[in-house]
Amino acid sequence: MEAIDIERKGCYIDGIWMVTNNDHPIEIKNPADGSILAYAVRGGKAEVDLAVSAAKRAFHSEAWQSVLPYDRGKLLNTAAAIIRNNKDELAKLETLDVGKPLTQAETDVEIAAKYFEYYAGITDKIYGETIPIEPGILDYTIREPLGVVSHIIPWNYPIQIAARSIAVSLATGNAMVLKPAEDTPLTTLRLVELLEPLSLPKGIINVVTGYGHEAGAALSAHPEINHITFTGSLETGKKVMAAAAQNIVPVTLELGGKSPNIVFADCNEELTLKWVLQSIVQNAGQTCSAGSRLVIEKSIKESFVKKLANMMENLSVGPGMENNDIGPIISEKQYEGIQSFFQLAKKDGIQFATGGERKQGEGLNDGYYLEPTILDDVPADHYLAQEEIFGPVLTVTTFENEKEALDIANGTPYGLVAGVWTENVGRAHRVASKLQCGQVFINHYGAGGGIAMPFGGYKKSGFGREKGLETIRNYTQVKNIALKY
Ligand code: NAD
Repeated sequence: MEAIDIERKGCYIDGIWMVTNNDHPIEIKNPADGSILAYAVRGGKAEVDLAVSAAKRAFHSEAWQSVLPYDRGKLLNTAAAIIRNNKDELAKLETLDVGKPLTQAETDVEIAAKYFEYYAGITDKIYGETIPIEPGILDYTIREPLGVVSHIIPWNYPIQIAARSIAVSLATGNAMVLKPAEDTPLTTLRLVELLEPLSLPKGIINVVTGYGHEAGAALSAHPEINHITFTGSLETGKKVMAAAAQNIVPVTLELGGKSPNIVFADCNEELTLKWVLQSIVQNAGQTCSAGSRLVIEKSIKESFVKKLANMMENLSVGPGMENNDIGPIISEKQYEGIQSFFQLAKKDGIQFATGGERKQGEGLNDGYYLEPTILDDVPADHYLAQEEIFGPVLTVTTFENEKEALDIANGTPYGLVAGVWTENVGRAHRVASKLQCGQVFINHYGAGGGIAMPFGGYKKSGFGREKGLETIRNYTQVKNIALKY
């Protein structure tokens, strides 16, 4: 498939493809084999300034303010149809750019379309309330768009996250600036190109490509944005929040995780094995909500881990285009990061129940392919069981009773997602109610993207919610009006 010529298209600002700063384009590599797919403009402060001004103008324009909420919904439904009509191309592009199996990329594109459909339905249902104050006063609220919203996007689910952001932003009547990750801007750029026939006022959607410390930093420090959503690592999240604080710009932070699957001896073993496996190998474990810790009742640990290791060994590891179960790690940097966790494991005498090796051979040597790995009997407070590894690497820690299970599950700085596996419905709800995290799955994991389900973190996994109706709060503000009559 021919990759799009990003060098020619550049950043998308004010409805124009701008090739600025063409001297030092960013190489966009195919993680499957290291080949260069395309070049992206290395945008920075100048491009961010242009994009934010364009968005601000577009937001205040009569052309945008006069679009009725119902008609915004129609635009979103058209966008969903456009995505579906181009799903093969978008999925291939996502696999080329991110490395994930093509079937996973197809699911991501389908979810992208569904975001537009979901939010199409809410455009004319964003309303306030009346509040009984005292006789003679009519007090009511209206929910208004913020103005210019922005999103800094990571490399692991680019099209899903860009689509979600664009859909909510349009649904709530905002204008926006997106900053895709430097490794994976291709589907975001192609998506906005495909959406051009919607004839939105110029500047309603802008995309600035570039590095985090340049374009990302300029966007987070911009005084004229009205909201910033950041999806990425904890350390970058702190920088974004600190920069936004200087301008009193509200932030939503969707950060990392170290999500536990808590497995009790009375679980449905077959079902549990299937989902525990899926939750750590999906996207080669490079998923914020990956089930990266197996917290399991001691009495069943031995046989469960043996079966799980066996299932892992039967997975194929190789290029995503060939629909292997596990694609490459996104980059050398990320691969080296995972290796340093392995070195620590070896130094501390942690047993590898399976995996731990780079997968090499014909067609694999130019990408970073990693065997799915289980690190067995990791103490709950060990660095390996505390920090996000962001690869197909599962740690195993045992417990002997429910309280201990909860202490271990809650005992990391993160709090994004947890899975609970038991046939005892009372225990399932009891445990769910005591977990310190934003989302709990009982006897399944993931729920197909969970478009309608509010998603976000407790503790250092961030704050604010995306997805579902909850996200509308991030993209709107409330005005109270009191009339004396
Ligand atoms: P990252 O923090 O390195 O980069 C994310 C984005 O931030 C990129 O677009 C990058 O260019 C930008 N960035 C980097 N430095 C910046 C700076 N100084 N100022 C502003 N922007 C900057 O994260 P990553 O490696 O791309 O993604 C992996 C991380 O993202 C993991 O920790 C993962 O858990 C997390 N993640 C979280 C969610 C969620 O919804 N909670 C979803 C996906 C990924």
